[in-house]
Amino acid sequence: MNKAKLIIILILLAFTANSKNIRVGLFGSSSQTKADVFYKVGRYEFFSESKNFTIISKRGDKISFVASSNKVNAYLNGIKVGENTWFRLNKRSDKNSLEVSNGSKKKEVMGNLVIYSIGGKLKIVNEISIDSYVEGVIKGEAGYGYSLEYYKVQAVISRTYALHHQKHKGEGFELCDHTHCQVYDGVNTKQEIKQAVIATSEEVLVDSSMNFINTLFHSNCGGQTITTDMVWSKRLACMESINDTFCTHSSQANWKKTISKSSWVRFLSQKTNKSSSYFNSINLDFNQTQRKEYYLVGTSKVRLTEVRKNFKLKSTFFSVHVVGDKVVFIGKGYGHGVGLCQEGGIVMAKTHTYQEVLHHYYKDVSIMPISKVEYYKLF
Ligand SMILES: [Zn+2]
Ligand SMILES: [Zn+2]
Repeated sequence: MNKAKLIIILILLAFTANSKNIRVGLFGSSSQTKADVFYKVGRYEFFSESKNFTIISKRGDKISFVASSNKVNAYLNGIKVGENTWFRLNKRSDKNSLEVSNGSKKKEVMGNLVIYSIGGKLKIVNEISIDSYVEGVIKGEAGYGYSLEYYKVQAVISRTYALHHQKHKGEGFELCDHTHCQVYDGVNTKQEIKQAVIATSEEVLVDSSMNFINTLFHSNCGGQTITTDMVWSKRLACMESINDTFCTHSSQANWKKTISKSSWVRFLSQKTNKSSSYFNSINLDFNQTQRKEYYLVGTSKVRLTEVRKNFKLKSTFFSVHVVGDKVVFIGKGYGHGVGLCQEGGIVMAKTHTYQEVLHHYYKDVSIMPISKVEYYKLF
């Protein structure tokens, strides 16, 4: 066993995480070597694998951590307190928060902190209840200004996503706080977000085998969602193509982009290995009233995802019209089109419950508390 693996095992042993807690690596994939932690609210026990240092409870208290190979040096208010494999700050009061800074970014978080080093890079892990984490994700991913019912939709989706995607387990935590996993923006003070998380506490979406589903979402489907195999390669259950009338008047419902006909012909020629003269002699118009997977003209076909990527289009739900020496894309929606359509969900949640919204966009799913899922999994 190599040293880094051993360290992660030691750190995992030091954790008290369970399915209702989650460990979030702060500052994404940043490779910081130093961090400062500032006291904000509550009481914290500060300790390492070999020693209890003190209780942190005073305004102005600051602990600095500096990585050195696979160990960490800690300084309390400028005075060195030790060099250890890991350090922890465990909350000892219900109201609590700390501000963490890695020099370029800072974040206020509730819950516990664990600090350790792998190969001279400092890892700062926030161990937090899953519901507090979900509040910070809604703040980071959806932002402010939505209805309570829509925040409930977002709460169930974010909670399920967190349990489905545990991409960082090999590093000693489950998720990072960046778009790579979900944007987690730390302490939330918005009352509607708090209420939505409490109202849906511990609720997740599972398929018929009690697996947490991959709760994919996008900005606007343009009136029809699509299956995963039309965007990537594998067909995922619970993500069927549905017609959506809720999003068609929203801000991302329609778009238009014009390019030169010559660049379009050049692209088609490259993708199909046919000469430019072939495309100059046929009708290049293409209509999409229902979603398709391929652009088809003559005997040629190009996957719409490739067109979208190459011309940086908002979606694959577009028609193509040749106007003189230009090609005009008339498009609908924004994003990959799989799973929840956020703008549709926002409109639907004005007149429907969050459960109805979830069942509209995700098919053959059940909404249930995590503890019930765990119970069913025993059998
Ligand atoms: Zn990540
Ligand atoms: Zn939609």
